[in-house]
Amino acid sequence: MAKNKSRTIEKGQQSTAQPSGRPPVVAILGHVDHGKTTLLDYIRRSHVAAKEAGGITQHIGAYQVTHKGRKITFIDTPGHEAFSAMRARGGSVSDVAVLVVAADDGVMPQTKESIAHLKAAQTPFIVAVNKMDLPGTNIDRIKKQLSEEGVLVEGFGGDVVVVPISAKRGEGVDNLLEMVNLVADMQGLKEETGKDFSGVVIESKLDKFKGPVATVLVKEGVLRIGDPVHTKSTTGKVKALVGDEGVPVKEARPSTPVEVLGFAAVPKVGEEVSSKEAETEKVESKKPIETGEKFVRPKENEIRLIIKADAQGSLEAITSSLEKLKKENQQVKIYYSDTGNITDSDILLASATKSLVIGFNANISNTASKLASEEGVLVRTYNIIYELIDELEEGLEAISRPEVKEEILGNAEILKIFTAEEDKVAGCRTISGRINKGDLLAIKRDGKEIGRSKIVSMKHRDSNINEANEGEEFGLIFEKKVPFAKSDIIVAMGSSVN
Ligand code: GDP
Repeated sequence: MAKNKSRTIEKGQQSTAQPSGRPPVVAILGHVDHGKTTLLDYIRRSHVAAKEAGGITQHIGAYQVTHKGRKITFIDTPGHEAFSAMRARGGSVSDVAVLVVAADDGVMPQTKESIAHLKAAQTPFIVAVNKMDLPGTNIDRIKKQLSEEGVLVEGFGGDVVVVPISAKRGEGVDNLLEMVNLVADMQGLKEETGKDFSGVVIESKLDKFKGPVATVLVKEGVLRIGDPVHTKSTTGKVKALVGDEGVPVKEARPSTPVEVLGFAAVPKVGEEVSSKEAETEKVESKKPIETGEKFVRPKENEIRLIIKADAQGSLEAITSSLEKLKKENQQVKIYYSDTGNITDSDILLASATKSLVIGFNANISNTASKLASEEGVLVRTYNIIYELIDELEEGLEAISRPEVKEEILGNAEILKIFTAEEDKVAGCRTISGRINKGDLLAIKRDGKEIGRSKIVSMKHRDSNINEANEGEEFGLIFEKKVPFAKSDIIVAMGSSVN
């Protein structure tokens, strides 16, 4: 966007502020119905003179306002899902967040989720206690609840700013914006217009008439008509740029949201956009997510967990069992836990924090399951606590082993399954290399690992064997229950893993 022609800058105000150069980008998070949308609408209505732009304000996913001569960009898709979708794909955009808590309702499940997301992102935030116009509200009650959630607010041992507001009436909103600027100032945001352009997709769709349309928030550099644009999933050339007021613009500077026409396909929300192809790839490949069926390691000797369980009682039981797993220089850290099923939000939080998602008597929604495979997040569900603990113990053991080298020593195919006495036996043939009794085995289906185990018994006809070479058939019993099936491939990883 070139200029804020239609913004309300009051006469006599100094617009020399914005000492840091780049306007802060602000996200609004909080529980449903606590007033996020009302707040975003109020800020937009009260700070943007839409009349001058023809009375049409367009929703493009973000907008800019001017407060006391300084610009602030708001992401207007409220909620932590949007916030985390961006983070998960590597495109963190928010400099400051506002956590909205309704005074009458207090801290609720999504307030807690939002807090977890904010902490994971290390995004500085301000708490807006909303609906202060309602009778009988008590801000100290909210502050106390927040401090119980580890949010150290002013007067309760910390310095997180709390601003009472009424989004409906607009009371306290100016003060909130003031605080946003203050928190932003402490970060010294720089406007890097001299650098190559880079931005983040904050909204995208396929328009019947215009084709792929994406709202891009500029992070660095300047985006101009005619510029090449690359994301990991698509590419293009900027044909047109439309600002947040529905007016075509020639360029967009840092912290400015702009609708971009010219992508060959619809880019994903959260993707980084860059003017250079190679750089985009570099950024993406740096994404610190380990994919596949293995415990994700945020750090040496640490497993982070996001736990969803059917009931509070189960959560408590799991937490206390996990306590026992803790050893010196080993950590099982519960990043977030709550009752309920596994949702998209949990997956995004896991992706951003490199956590493992554990469901205990909890289901995973279809969309969350799809998201998990896209994001490379490992999800495990259990019905029995000791199975959960066992697997975690194994995981911890695995990560404390020095340099686990996975060398593939052989492959075998499961040709049939039969039962011998009590045990389920996999009848296999070695396709390549060899399978040794001491190997760690990964079981794969359609190229994806479905489990790992070791061998307790290995036989050819009726004799015990220790190894089966290429072309040889054998029966094996796994050490622990693995849901193997006919046609699964067994990959031998060698005893060096031991
Ligand atoms: P969101 O789900 O967080 O986006 O919440 P909304 O902005 O949709 O607000 C939920 C409800 O709370 C709506 O009925 C709003 O009118 C109401 N609401 C929002 N802010 C206030 C406020 O400051 N005071 C009062 N009394 N009601 C509010």
